[in-house]
Amino acid sequence: MANEKTFYLETFGCQMNVHDSEKVVGTLISQGYRQVESVEEAGLVLYNTCSIRDKAEQKVFHRLADFRKLERQGKKFGVLGCVAQQEGERIFARAPHVSLVCGSASYRNLPQMLVEVEAGKRSTGLDDRQTTETFETEFTARSNPHRGYITITEGCDKFCAYCVVPYTRGRERSRTSDAILAEARHMADSGYTEVQLLGQNVNSYRDPLRKKTFSELLASVGQVPGLKRVRFTTSHPIDFTRDIVDAIDAVPTLCDHVHLPVQSGSSRVLEAMQREYTREDYLERIAWIKAARREISITTDIIVGFPGETEAEFEETLSLLDEVGYDGTFSFKYSPRPNTPAQTMADSIPEEEKARRLAVLQEHQKQIQTRLSKRHTGQTIEVMVEGKNRAREQLIGRTSQNKPLNFTVTAGNPEPLPGSYVRVHVSASFPNSLLGEMVG
Ligand code: SF4
Repeated sequence: MANEKTFYLETFGCQMNVHDSEKVVGTLISQGYRQVESVEEAGLVLYNTCSIRDKAEQKVFHRLADFRKLERQGKKFGVLGCVAQQEGERIFARAPHVSLVCGSASYRNLPQMLVEVEAGKRSTGLDDRQTTETFETEFTARSNPHRGYITITEGCDKFCAYCVVPYTRGRERSRTSDAILAEARHMADSGYTEVQLLGQNVNSYRDPLRKKTFSELLASVGQVPGLKRVRFTTSHPIDFTRDIVDAIDAVPTLCDHVHLPVQSGSSRVLEAMQREYTREDYLERIAWIKAARREISITTDIIVGFPGETEAEFEETLSLLDEVGYDGTFSFKYSPRPNTPAQTMADSIPEEEKARRLAVLQEHQKQIQTRLSKRHTGQTIEVMVEGKNRAREQLIGRTSQNKPLNFTVTAGNPEPLPGSYVRVHVSASFPNSLLGEMVG
């Protein structure tokens, strides 16, 4: 179609970025654009970027270099998200074919910025990091019709020594509980049965109208008619309070899963990371979670090779894995990021040693997961159906504890549709998934 405005958007990084992209897509559609599936078909090519690790950042510049020649066909290029905020107008020097650079707290200005870009100008939206505004939009193009994200906080005030987020997403600000609940009700009315409350640190949620604490908000969202599952991420141990566990106990729709990033099992390393808690503080929170009436699955994030981490301190992390018994971990090698306090510390652990520690940790965790996963064999667990693995002739489900549970349906029974909830008898357990057969 002549003069039709089309865009392609690729997203890198965390769930916050994935959800930001849903809002950006909705905003562009409201401005008359149509989303397409490839760079070749698009008039406007956008990358929503992540700068949490150097690798993620380099990937974006490689993508931009790969498609540079397409500029001659009149395509416009834009960089959104954390790399945009971090690098600002330096992106124009590194990739001169880029005409739009926009950080996440400036997305409300996108419609005006797009007009400038369409007129052949360059447009830059860099955030005022002191902003107290949140990005509220009625135009969110959610990619899944059953399960969706709701932002409750943006930015972060924690300033962990290794992390770029406070510099790229700005200071922490919370949406009102009224706005969050209205969005949850609207989603439930539109057929969503699962929502995930999102923020860099949801536990420090502060209702600007002072109506609700985080645990009260959680309980209220859990009571929205029509919602069957409510999740939240990410938590921070220092702000994780006992009443969150009480809320999970009291409201059955709150999922029995807590992702509680620990980063290290050594109190000395935690202090150097400016995490504000000790190993003992962390284990106290774990004890609250384990004392819940329902069994709550616990997962975490870990960084190995932080500057100065000794072998003995690394082994403290391994012993913490044993002590907690995580159902899953996301583990990474430390890499220095621009503007962070840790960047000025000597990156003292050689890359090969970081890689060795990471491999040891991941193998150790795999053994733990293999052992822990066996407890599910013989259980009957409710799953939300996510889709079908045609090659294996299995349906893909997810448990409230956030574990993939793949299953078959007895011959003659109808296959449940994506988004429906069914009960599955678990016949086999693996470190990262479960296998079973639908009951009934
Ligand atoms: S809590 Fe720490 S690691 Fe998490 S986003 Fe904030 S600064 Fe980064």
